This record gives sequence, C-alpha cells and structure tokens, in this order.
Amino acid sequence: MTIGILAIQGDFGLHQKILDKLGVKHITVRNEEQLKQCDALIIPGGESTTFIKLLKSAQLDRAIKNFGHKKPIMGTCAGLILLSSKVSNNSVDTLNLIDIEVSRNAYGRQIDSFVDTVELTLKEKTIKFEGVFIRAPKIKKIGEGVRPLGYHKKDIILAENEKILVATFHPELTSDTLVHQYFIEKVKKIL
Ligand code: GLN
Repeated sequence: MTIGILAIQGDFGLHQKILDKLGVKHITVRNEEQLKQCDALIIPGGESTTFIKLLKSAQLDRAIKNFGHKKPIMGTCAGLILLSSKVSNNSVDTLNLIDIEVSRNAYGRQIDSFVDTVELTLKEKTIKFEGVFIRAPKIKKIGEGVRPLGYHKKDIILAENEKILVATFHPELTSDTLVHQYFIEKVKKIL
C-alpha cells in the first residue's frame, strides 16, 4: 500500500512524519504520474485558492477528481475545502467529492487559530482529541451519505463518506496518530 501526499502547497511534511511514525509507505505527489502509483491520497492544509490554481496548472484537478471516485482521499483544513461540494463564502472551485457545504475562515479574525479539545467517535468509541484549528473552515451542512465522526461544541469537525475523510482541524499537528490510523484502516478496507 502506498499513500500519496499532495505536495504542491501547504503542510505536507507533517503528514509525512505521521505516516513514518505509523510505518506506512508514502510518496509525495506533484504530478499525475506520481498519483497513479498511489492507493490513496492525503490533501494537506494550506490556502485553498492557491491550491486550486496550482492544481489546475499542473492539470491535477481532473486527475484527483477521477482518483477520488475510485480511491480514498483524506483532506485536512484547506484539503477539506477542496474536497467539498460547496463553499458558501469566498467561493473557490472545488472537486465535489463529498457532499458538504463549508464556510471558509469561519471562526472570525480574533480567534482564527486556536487549540481545543474535540470529541471523535471512531469505531463506536468516543474519545477526546486535541484539535488544532488554523484559520479553519466550518462544515455548515452535510448531505446524504456523509457521516459525522467528530464534534467541537456543536460543529462537525470530522466527517466521511464511502471514500473521503475530511477534518476542519489539523490532526497532523498533534502527536496522536489516531485519525491517520483510522484513514489507513479505511484504505485497507477499500483496497
Ligand atoms: N483558511 C484557509 C483556506 O481558506 C485554510 C487554512 C488551513 O488549511 N489551515 O483555504
């Protein structure tokens, strides 16, 4: 199993470190050839408007969209925005791979970055996890086939459909590898 980490922008290096910790093989993805070698993909945080421009110029937007119909993708923060079906403000083109409506930079300027405890329910167990939110989006609506997996107060902060897993926060910034482990298990089930 090889996990691709999209490495055209953002904090991809932190995802590499987590996968190293878990002993999972990974490669960086900057073009379609590299994407073809992967069984799953991680889209890191960054800046979604810049991301989509770079994806288009590398002709990776279509390729990732097709990839996501067949294989699992995990997106954190800007990665979640790219995978969503609709952005309700500061609109950007998205890949429409998970039926969620999101609002960018949704926590306001004063507190646009913070750390707080979140609750995740994974494999029927509810656990507390450190949620690192950096100019984070909020999930405003979820559509059919989307399952919430975690909350911060009343907001859904982790969700999935059959192939896609998205987080509004940055699990790659905490020492707990649980969310990545969950994704790897999802990949193994689909493989
Ligand atoms: N605010 C960024 C955006 O809208 C996302 C921030 C992040 O990925 N940490 O794209």
